[in-house]
Amino acid sequence: MASPTFRAPKGTRDILSPESERRRALVEVFAALAGRAGFGEIESPLFENIGVFLRVGETTDIVTKEMFDFHDKGDPPEHLALRPELTASICRAFVEHRPVVPWKVWYAGPQFRYEQPQAGRYRQFTQVGVEVLGVDDPLLDVEIIALARRFYDTLGLGRVRLLLNSLGDPTCRPAYLEALTAHLLDHAAELSPQARVTLERNPLRVLDSKRAEDQAVIDAAPVMVDHLTDESAAHFAAVTSGLDRLGIDYEISPRLVRGLDYYTRTTFEFAADALPGAQNAVGGGGRYDGLVADLGGPDTPGIGFALGVDRTLLACDAEGVFPAPATAPDVFVVDVVDGTHALTVCEDLRAAGLAADRAYGGRSMKAQMKAAGRSGARLAVIVGDDELATGRVTVRDLERGEQTTVPRDDLVEHVRRATAQ
Ligand code: ATP
Ligand code: MG
Repeated sequence: MASPTFRAPKGTRDILSPESERRRALVEVFAALAGRAGFGEIESPLFENIGVFLRVGETTDIVTKEMFDFHDKGDPPEHLALRPELTASICRAFVEHRPVVPWKVWYAGPQFRYEQPQAGRYRQFTQVGVEVLGVDDPLLDVEIIALARRFYDTLGLGRVRLLLNSLGDPTCRPAYLEALTAHLLDHAAELSPQARVTLERNPLRVLDSKRAEDQAVIDAAPVMVDHLTDESAAHFAAVTSGLDRLGIDYEISPRLVRGLDYYTRTTFEFAADALPGAQNAVGGGGRYDGLVADLGGPDTPGIGFALGVDRTLLACDAEGVFPAPATAPDVFVVDVVDGTHALTVCEDLRAAGLAADRAYGGRSMKAQMKAAGRSGARLAVIVGDDELATGRVTVRDLERGEQTTVPRDDLVEHVRRATAQ
């Protein structure tokens, strides 16, 4: 076969059935859990003025290297970017609409990052997540983490670890950054060239380097949790004891920093041990108590998480859980008269809430029965000249190989009973 002229752009892919149904089912699991926890859904634009994102992460890879940005056709043109994540957009929406706090929202949708594609890393990928604005109570941090945990548990994932850290607050961060920078500068010669560039821009981000040659210096670096103010330390202690109370396991990961600059205090990540190390982060989140103010709003604490749907499903594959839901119809209608009986039978069944499919184009009985088998339907309903003459149709149980005839008028009831078993 000739190769197609066009393919999906690099780093993107078509998600076909039944995987697409599986993703929808996953979003439904998340929506149900978030709804039960008092969250309402938010849909925000897929693109924003680039300033929304620049404001929140001027020194991070996500914002400096990974954004898809473009100018619109306005005069003057507006500089826009596809959203690489949703926290910034949600804070922008908060400042724009000033909803009553606490404002608890959940979302599901695509994000865009100009990344080097590889397994579990795409240029368009999907996240589900939540954000809460207006609450600095550490017990909310516990609830948020518990929600993500319950989501993974509900999917059936057993090998997802919670990594936890505190990034402190604007009072303790400067002293820590000074200690960290001094350490990294002392050992700059031992760092990778990339880490040395990061060091110039944002020393904290050096801790996020996954390069082997940087690990020794990172392992010896001072850690934020040793530099917390009393207030931030108490906040963190309340989070850990809340998790203990709910029996949620965690590992303190003192060098966990996250992709964006705006995080304060509680920071967490979920690592799927069933996935290779480079893509084992299935989700993460944390507090961002300064972000709303950075976007021109009132001083408002915030916390949230984003969970990667694509990677979470890869972890489900690796653990053999959360299979795609069945998409087979209840009934496949075989019409060897003229096709119009299949039309009315299918519509009657569908109107009654049953799933029905058929073949098209007046194909042979044999070809239609083959299609019925391929469809995975439990029953085939066969309409032929004989059946028409008697006002009855043949119903064949494709699993058991038994067949019977039923009056056309009783068909819907019969199918309903037969498929309920
Ligand atoms: P990584 O360190 O793997 O690049 P990240 O820190 O950039 O992840 P976040 O911004 O925290 O990721 O996004 C939350 C989740 O979204 C990640 O844990 C991951 O599951 C998923 N994710 C992030 N980037 C991608 C991508 N390019 N393709 C698929 N999933 C992604
Ligand atoms: Mg990334």
